[in-house]
Amino acid sequence: MTDPNLTRLQQRYQRVLNRIRQAEAACNRPPGGVRLLAVSKTKSMEEIAALADLGQGDFGENYLQEALQKIDRLRDRGLEWHFIGRIQSNKTRPIAENFHWVHSLASLKHAARLSDQRPPGLPPLNVCLQVNTSGEASKDGYREEALREEFEAYTRLPNLRIRGLMTIPAPAAGETAQHRPFERLRLLRDELMRAETPLDTLSMGMSEDLEAAIAEGATIIRIGTAIFGPRQYNQ
Ligand SMILES: *Cc1c(COP(=O)(O)O)cnc(C)c1O
Repeated sequence: MTDPNLTRLQQRYQRVLNRIRQAEAACNRPPGGVRLLAVSKTKSMEEIAALADLGQGDFGENYLQEALQKIDRLRDRGLEWHFIGRIQSNKTRPIAENFHWVHSLASLKHAARLSDQRPPGLPPLNVCLQVNTSGEASKDGYREEALREEFEAYTRLPNLRIRGLMTIPAPAAGETAQHRPFERLRLLRDELMRAETPLDTLSMGMSEDLEAAIAEGATIIRIGTAIFGPRQYNQ
């Protein structure tokens, strides 16, 4: 890797891996219990391929057309693709056909479509239900009360495997404020799990707050900027 951009990518990636190990150690979690999802929206095939060469296996994408091209071109790499963007009703089929995970599910209608459209040859689609832990500050995701009412219905969809919960908190200043939404998500997961379904996943924590998320029990953290550098949307 002599290209300076790839060298920087490698350094940033290593720094993120170090942050994860330190955060695990700081709260006495065994090393290796946090899965790193590299959020590659707006980033090139070359950067994704370079990261895959370093051993990164999970990639998250928000924009469907962009994601489908990458999945197609990188098909022989054996990567796992996670859809983390806003779901549109008329675009569920390509998600059901091409992704391994969906983190941003917050509608039973979308869930039913994804289950119906999951191709028979594939294992069930792994899904996380998105929860709005920031009140009015965020429009996306379930209010806790609404999820309690509808959760049971998700567990009956045959081609979905309900893995857990996901949240994108509003930006918070300071560590203490960062913890609160992550704690809420963990408590809600514990409560829903008591019902019957094992929920092994808390998808929470991004570049700015991964330490707080890991301390509160994150099992998947979704990291873009800290790995790839700032995003440019003016393409
Ligand atoms: C873009 C995005 C991320 C990554 O955010 P960074 O702050 O760049 O780490 C994580 N999760 C979701 C849902 C995103 O859309």
